[in-house]
Amino acid sequence: MSFKRVLGQEQPKKILQNALQNNSVSHAYLFYGQESVGKKLTAIEFAKALNCETSGPKDSCDACASCRKIEQRIHPDFFLLEPVKSSPTGREAAIKIELIRDLQKKLAYLPYEGKTKVAIIDGAEAMNPQAANTLLKTLEEPPSATVLILITSNPFQLLPTLVSRCQGVKFHPLSPPEIKQILQQKMTEETESFPASELELRALRSMGRVSRALEEDIGSANVYREELLDLLAKISFKRMDACFKWSKQWGKQPGQIQSVLDELLNMIRDITVLKTGSRNTEFQNGDILDRIRPLAEKKSVPALLRMFDSVLQTKSALAGNANLQLSLDHMLIQFCKAA
Ligand SMILES: [Zn+2]
Repeated sequence: MSFKRVLGQEQPKKILQNALQNNSVSHAYLFYGQESVGKKLTAIEFAKALNCETSGPKDSCDACASCRKIEQRIHPDFFLLEPVKSSPTGREAAIKIELIRDLQKKLAYLPYEGKTKVAIIDGAEAMNPQAANTLLKTLEEPPSATVLILITSNPFQLLPTLVSRCQGVKFHPLSPPEIKQILQQKMTEETESFPASELELRALRSMGRVSRALEEDIGSANVYREELLDLLAKISFKRMDACFKWSKQWGKQPGQIQSVLDELLNMIRDITVLKTGSRNTEFQNGDILDRIRPLAEKKSVPALLRMFDSVLQTKSALAGNANLQLSLDHMLIQFCKAA
């Protein structure tokens, strides 16, 4: 298995495998890119390849004692740090200075039984300034036979001095076919189970993220989409009663409104893309394109863009605690004006 376990991400794999092959592995890497696209998995497979007892330099066997210990997180030269919540109910998770100091002590020694010590810091942006400054010392004077891998979906939240001392490796969102393949793999391994009919839709709606494909509540999304198709078909000053019925209903459900509005944004985006005739675009609502097409025929592109803008404004007003019912009514009036 080894690097083969990482589906997609051909460019990052190539960079790392070339470094292994040419014996030019950096002492520090920054793996960055949106959440849930395989950064941590790649880092773990890289650690295996660096320490494998049997396979060639470019990959690991995934079977020797070293590979198995890394897989089980019990290898004495493999360290995986992740943000920890200060209390079970706390919202903010952090990587504190104590964890970094502890790591530094462990990295000061030569590898205990492997060839290279590998330390992965997942969610590196969760290091507070003291922790980040402490880690900087390690990067300035890297211990021998050590590879440090920082992982983040927000590189701009890291100290620039940290970033500049790492080799950057960019991870891209996964394509729907890649996501579908990952879902199928998880079903084969029986770690997840979905109705086969949902796989395609989950992949299309994943936004390139495995976690979203796995966790999305497809049932709720289908309910929202039905209502939104109905609403968009009725938008006009002549049918204000039907529009306000929708806003009255959702005006009482603040918990779900941001998801509903995200769904609305996706739908307006898909209608606009259909309208402009773009090809090879992955539609989030790819399974109901035949129902979206009549809406595309009725609305102009400038009107759709105004509607999109109006939803964005509503989302931001609600995030700032604006009155839900009034905001939705206002949005629908903007829709009618645009239509
Ligand atoms: Zn091995």
